[in-house]
Amino acid sequence: MDASILIVGSDDFVDTFSSLVEKLSIFAIQVASHPREAMSLVQAQQPDLLLLQASELGVLDLCQQIKSQSQLAWIYCIVIQTAPTLGHMQLSDPTLLLQAEIQALQMGADALLNLPIPLQPESLALERCDPLVLQRLYAQLHAGQQRVQNHRDLMRTNDLLSAIALVDPLTELNNRRAFEWELPRQIQNSRDREVPISLLMLDIDYFKRINDTYGHVVGDRALKLVSARLRHNLRFYDTPFRYGGEEFVILLSDTGADEVGAIATRICDLISSQPFSISDSLELTITISAGVSSLQSTDDNRGVSLLHRADQNLLRAKARGRNQVVLSDPPTGK
Ligand code: GH3
Ligand code: MG
Ligand code: MG
Repeated sequence: MDASILIVGSDDFVDTFSSLVEKLSIFAIQVASHPREAMSLVQAQQPDLLLLQASELGVLDLCQQIKSQSQLAWIYCIVIQTAPTLGHMQLSDPTLLLQAEIQALQMGADALLNLPIPLQPESLALERCDPLVLQRLYAQLHAGQQRVQNHRDLMRTNDLLSAIALVDPLTELNNRRAFEWELPRQIQNSRDREVPISLLMLDIDYFKRINDTYGHVVGDRALKLVSARLRHNLRFYDTPFRYGGEEFVILLSDTGADEVGAIATRICDLISSQPFSISDSLELTITISAGVSSLQSTDDNRGVSLLHRADQNLLRAKARGRNQVVLSDPPTGK
């Protein structure tokens, strides 16, 4: 089945329309006898379309509820009028019918169809139903299904584009944009849950020499291999990002100042202890320097001061000779 539909109404309505919809063979059908029951199903299953019996009290409120929630608002709601009532309104003349349609659309229905279909077993319903009326129902169902399909395609493209926008194409690590989005979230989470968080800023030592000696293609390959080694050797919940050039940051969740030094040293050793195999004839030994900081209560929520301390410590690690970790925070009088 390509799509799903929830039919809401009296037993007669549900039976009749289930059998009419079945004819299309594109919908997995669910039914509910009351708008309240329907709402739980909508939330749990998120059907593509809703077919609602106009005379059921509460159907327009159901539409309104669905359309007011952004994660459900794309569900296509068709209200069907088989007898001249809408909720408690009696609809005997065209003006009232128009008013009912306006009201239904204002409450969030995508369409109100006036379909004089007898609420009877399928064979009778089909027999007594004007073919044009049936065609109108089917055309509306197709239109709804197409619109939902378009929405789903758009969402998938959106997800893909978001993922592309947040990933560095060379190293396949999350990029700086992703880091700037993630850092405040992790700080908030750390403060809400009262768990520590630390940050590691890494920079490859003398990377320019690699480019100058072997060329940028080798430099790129080295960056890829360093990134892959980082990615494969972190704990599941620690996230590496390419901050820029040959610089990386790693957010270490649930990690305080007492533990972060050992983790940083392990990561530096991980890079320096084994050469990187660039090609059959070229192996490069690479070292990195690391600056570390751990979240303090005085740090801002965006992570500016936390990042600044790690950066300062990285500069110290470079100044002290590279291939090392600097943990101590600089004096706070900055
Ligand atoms: P230091 O130990 O002080 O960090 O020295 P360094 O040579 O690593 O630092 P520097 O900032 O002088 O040089 C960084 C180099 O990284 C320069 C830049 O061309 C190179 N680089 C940045 N991004 C890329 C990239 O994507 N590919 C390649 N091949 N090189 C890059
Ligand atoms: Mg650098
Ligand atoms: Mg460098």
